[in-house]
Amino acid sequence: MHIAILGGGVLGVASAWYLAKSGHQVTVIDRQDSVAQETSLGNAGMISPGYSSPWAAPGVPIKAIGWMLQDLAPFMINVKELDGYTLSWMTKMLANCNTRSYQTNKARMLRIAEYSRDCFVDIRKELNLDYDGRQLGTLQLFRKQKQIDALQKDIQILKELGIEHQALDMNGCIEYEPALIHAQEKFVGGLRLPGDETGDCFKFTTSLAKECEKLGVVFKMNTRIERLNESDGKIVSVTTDTGAVTADAFLCALGSYSPQILKTVGINVPIYPIKGYSLTLPIEDESRAPQSTIMDETYKVAVTRFEDRIRVGGTAEIASYNLDRPDKRRASVDFVIQDMFPGAVDVAKAEFWSGLRPMTPDSTPILGGTKYSNLFLNTGHGTLGWTMSLGSAKFVSDVINKKTPDIDPEGLSIERYYA
Ligand SMILES: Cc1cc2nc3c(=O)[nH]c(=O)nc-3n(C[C@H](O)[C@H](O)[C@H](O)COP(=O)(O)OP(=O)(O)OC[C@H]3O[C@@H](n4cnc5c(N)ncnc54)[C@H](O)[C@@H]3O)c2cc1C
Repeated sequence: MHIAILGGGVLGVASAWYLAKSGHQVTVIDRQDSVAQETSLGNAGMISPGYSSPWAAPGVPIKAIGWMLQDLAPFMINVKELDGYTLSWMTKMLANCNTRSYQTNKARMLRIAEYSRDCFVDIRKELNLDYDGRQLGTLQLFRKQKQIDALQKDIQILKELGIEHQALDMNGCIEYEPALIHAQEKFVGGLRLPGDETGDCFKFTTSLAKECEKLGVVFKMNTRIERLNESDGKIVSVTTDTGAVTADAFLCALGSYSPQILKTVGINVPIYPIKGYSLTLPIEDESRAPQSTIMDETYKVAVTRFEDRIRVGGTAEIASYNLDRPDKRRASVDFVIQDMFPGAVDVAKAEFWSGLRPMTPDSTPILGGTKYSNLFLNTGHGTLGWTMSLGSAKFVSDVINKKTPDIDPEGLSIERYYA
């Protein structure tokens, strides 16, 4: 079967890999001149099933006000961008801020993320992908005792879900991240998730795309998708600025831009672009650099070690599709890397990037079939698309191949919004 994949981010390319491996002829269509040029380009690099939690949680509406008022705010709303779509999405998200929805959504996210990590283990055995990958866990770091005191609830959830974790004092944290010795007085302790991994999503996607090409996948780049076309309950083609592309099946992996294209055939997906920022910096002093990911829980900023670079990512901003990078938005990421790992980098050498997390109100991606028998979705991965990439792609590939997926499909498809 010929399958057209719309979007060449990490989700589109990972899908291309599994579908090509199962014998299909695959064409990936993307508006950029190479893969992973949008949200999959500069993310924080965490492959973190242990950190899979919905944003919509009990107490979050109140906490969000505190975050907005905080110095170096981790969350902000650009009021100029508050249109009807934004307000409707925010209302849906607020409706998920209760214990029952939180538990349901978290269980769904974890199901995909844990499966995805297994898929990472498998792909490393099969391919030699160059992506600065490390398997050294992640460390959540706390600046205040009251954050540690509040941790018991999270630890209880980790226990119930069987996720390996270690509560550490600062000496324990320094054992895993020796460079923290230069900043130990600023922190009170941490929570380590040893099963988590790290890596550069852009390098991974680029490297995997080369493997896809060996399997015959065609990358149709510099091609802007305008709409899908349907006839008799099936999608027949996709209209692009370079002409129509026909195929037997279509998979939408357009990240934050999925709603615009899907609505051309009457499908509404509640995906909102939540803006974030990152810095990428060359390491100046190896002895002062991190080993893996450290999450500063006060500022919600992740610091991740790639081989000879450090990626620092954070901030959640409601700003519609605006990708501007005002200097003032660097403040929290600039501060955290210098405060946590003084002397490791020179922030003047940083590349500053912004991206749009394709976020659903329940933080769970939308995977699987639609009302059209040959249109499938692999989108809406929000804060954890790199983490969930391989698992989501393998799952959707199994759905397209009419194979029973390895994980339970309950609650993963678009149907959950119509129930
Ligand atoms: C600051 C930040 C930090 C993050 N940190 C992490 C992290 O540490 N761990 C983690 O797991 N996740 C993280 N994420 C989330 C993760 O990066 C995303 O979930 C993931 O990259 C989404 O991948 P995607 O393939 O769905 O979207 P994209 O990478 O955006 O791919 C979509 C593709 O569709 C193409 N496209 C869109 N519209 C059209 C059109 N009309 N025509 C043709 N092509 C089109 C684009 O060019 C793009 O290549 C972070 C995100 C941000 C912003």
